[in-house]
Amino acid sequence: MLDKNCVFCRIVRGELPSGKVYEDDKMVVFKDLEPKAKVHLLAVPKDHFKLLEEADSERAQTLAHMLLKIPEIAKSNGCKNGYRLIVNQGDDANQTVHHLHIHILGGEKLPE
Ligand code: AMP
Ligand code: ZN
Repeated sequence: MLDKNCVFCRIVRGELPSGKVYEDDKMVVFKDLEPKAKVHLLAVPKDHFKLLEEADSERAQTLAHMLLKIPEIAKSNGCKNGYRLIVNQGDDANQTVHHLHIHILGGEKLPE
């Protein structure tokens, strides 16, 4: 399901430009507009949902697929020496885009 008002759905559909570095049938990965590290990518499922608790078995398979792909995508985009994954969930975590996404941060030594 896509949400016509969602910025990440619009990127998935190609309606908004993005610095896309990877795409397959289940996910896209693009550069964060306001990078918080030398490398800052967002891995986004093509299916629109906000929270992990909304995942059914098909979405769980997509999430597993994303986690299995992220190591090679991170490495080939400059995370040679490790990286950090962040998934903000809901208001207390300041989730601003209500389409689940995995932040990939690296390319330098990150703060502890
Ligand atoms: P979160 O706080 O986890 O919801 O993070 C949302 C992230 O999306 C932020 O780091 C934003 O900089 C990023 N972002 C918002 N709009 C865009 C966009 N059009 N292209 C790339 N990154 C975006
Ligand atoms: Zn969306």
